[in-house]
Amino acid sequence: MKRNENGNFVVGIDLGGTTVTSSVVDREGNLLSEAEIPSYSEKGVDVTTDKIAESVEEAIKQAGKAREDVIACGMGAPGIHKADEGVVLWSPNFSGWDGANVYEPLRKKTGFEFYMGNDVNVASFGEYTFGAGRGAEIMVMFTLGTGVGSGLIVRGEAYRGMFASPELGHVIIDAKGPRCGCGRYGCVEALCNRDAIINRAMQKVLSGRKSKLYEATEGRLTEITPQMIDRFANEKDIVCCETLCETGFYMGLAVANTINSFDPSLIVIGGGIARSRILFEEIKKTAMETAIDCLKEHCSIVPSQLGNKAGILGGAALAFKGVYA
Ligand SMILES: [Zn+2]
Repeated sequence: MKRNENGNFVVGIDLGGTTVTSSVVDREGNLLSEAEIPSYSEKGVDVTTDKIAESVEEAIKQAGKAREDVIACGMGAPGIHKADEGVVLWSPNFSGWDGANVYEPLRKKTGFEFYMGNDVNVASFGEYTFGAGRGAEIMVMFTLGTGVGSGLIVRGEAYRGMFASPELGHVIIDAKGPRCGCGRYGCVEALCNRDAIINRAMQKVLSGRKSKLYEATEGRLTEITPQMIDRFANEKDIVCCETLCETGFYMGLAVANTINSFDPSLIVIGGGIARSRILFEEIKKTAMETAIDCLKEHCSIVPSQLGNKAGILGGAALAFKGVYA
């Protein structure tokens, strides 16, 4: 499959366990369409690659463009890939994908040249190309959500080891800490992901402390959300403030370890809860108190600019540059 260098646009794709979203993107990083459909990740490679091709087609139609206008497609997808060969080595939420080659069916079904990479690495590449990371020499991005993901961009290229991008969410920061989804104890993810934040707040309320969380959920504490915690923290609810500060402390340790490990010029914090000013300030404060002095001096810590569009724009950046992540 050849790139269509006569085109001016690309299609960026964000593949998730429940949906696949595609957008036609121009060279400035503007999204001209957004086609979101179910990804049917449980139904195998053939069905999901059909869905990806369908969303690409729909995105082009929505944007009012012709196929000739499109240079290539780029996609971020969960898991560990041999990205240059289009082989998925490990993607636990997609049934039948492990060891599968996805470039072959995707190129055949879409009719476009295709590039892909690990979703967080691709989102980091998006942030580097179109967002908060523009011009950064060494950039690390964290995404806080159901998991804690990370990506590393070194002088314009998405870093991969033998295959994988750095899994800084599984650095252990409290060996006696809670069990992580990966099976070990005290990973950054186990202390800072969505469930960890909710659980931290819940335990405080269960111990009998007063909080607006109790009235807001009418005592159904499993309905607590990180957004609720942030809202009440801004209204000076002590339980909510403590929850965010404790989370920010652990995340700040992760950021300090990252500064000490990679000596980056920029750290970007993304994911819905990262929009919390209280959490973000605590992350920054702890990182600056903990990292090695002469390394932290030239490292800025900033929130993500692209939010949940980082994945699609990262896919678009791969397609424009003709690289893998
Ligand atoms: Zn872990």
